[in-house]
Amino acid sequence: MYNFVYNMNHYYTSDDERVAKSVIDRKIREAKANALSEQFWEYGYNFCSDCLKSNGVMLDCSHTISVDEAQKTRRTELAWDVKNIKVRCRECHIEHDSRSKL
Ligand SMILES: [Zn+2]
Repeated sequence: MYNFVYNMNHYYTSDDERVAKSVIDRKIREAKANALSEQFWEYGYNFCSDCLKSNGVMLDCSHTISVDEAQKTRRTELAWDVKNIKVRCRECHIEHDSRSKL
């Protein structure tokens, strides 16, 4: 039973590579850290790439194509593609997510 659940817990990339959810989660953490540090190195600070606020906002890393959609459409590599991750403030992140669910 547990083995069955474990085996179900993986997704495919567009080159049919099978990736375990635990590996996906680790790669997403690394990609989010990279997105923040790339922005920091380019501009010298972190800010929301939608509304450009930096002060007094909580910054999140937000997927343009959601992890869920990437996994379901067998393009799991988008989950850790830095180009698919944008730094957004909490407000813009929620706004983006509610729009992409429509
Ligand atoms: Zn914002």
